[in-house]
Amino acid sequence: VERTLSIIKPDATKRNLTGKIVAKFEDAGLRVVASKRIHLSPAQAGAFYAEHSARGFYGELCEFMASEPVVVQVLEGESAIAKNREVMGATNPANAEAGTIRKEFALSMGENSVHGSDSEASAAREISFFFSGLELV
Ligand code: ATP
Ligand code: MG
Repeated sequence: VERTLSIIKPDATKRNLTGKIVAKFEDAGLRVVASKRIHLSPAQAGAFYAEHSARGFYGELCEFMASEPVVVQVLEGESAIAKNREVMGATNPANAEAGTIRKEFALSMGENSVHGSDSEASAAREISFFFSGLELV
């Protein structure tokens, strides 16, 4: 089995959509094996998204991610990384498939409700960014 890092973003926590989003993961066969609600500082959001630091939307993205609490979770399952991204849908909700989280809940390209790791390497980095070994069972 594989693990991936999921974030329920500020636009979704603010609208009380955490349970509805987690239900989509569970319905797809993913299991929540670690979970916490945190409020990132802009600097912490910036460190998490460092790979995007040269992009025009970086400042806006970091500010948004620090605007309200987020729920960070480790999801486990067969092909968890790909399965999670399938359930999330396309980055831009206008292009997302019916039934995906972003199609149903995202507000815009920026306020798109969820994050999911995009590779084994980023899953490993992102899980250890938020969770210590003691929190992972
Ligand atoms: P995520 O990494 O959040 O799972 P993703 O892999 O689909 O999403 P990335 O290209 O990694 O998308 O971009 C990271 C995040 O930056 C997006 O989820 C979105 O919130 C934001 N973002 C990406 N492109 C834009 C844009 N053109 N304008 C505003 N925000 C953007
Ligand atoms: Mg990404």
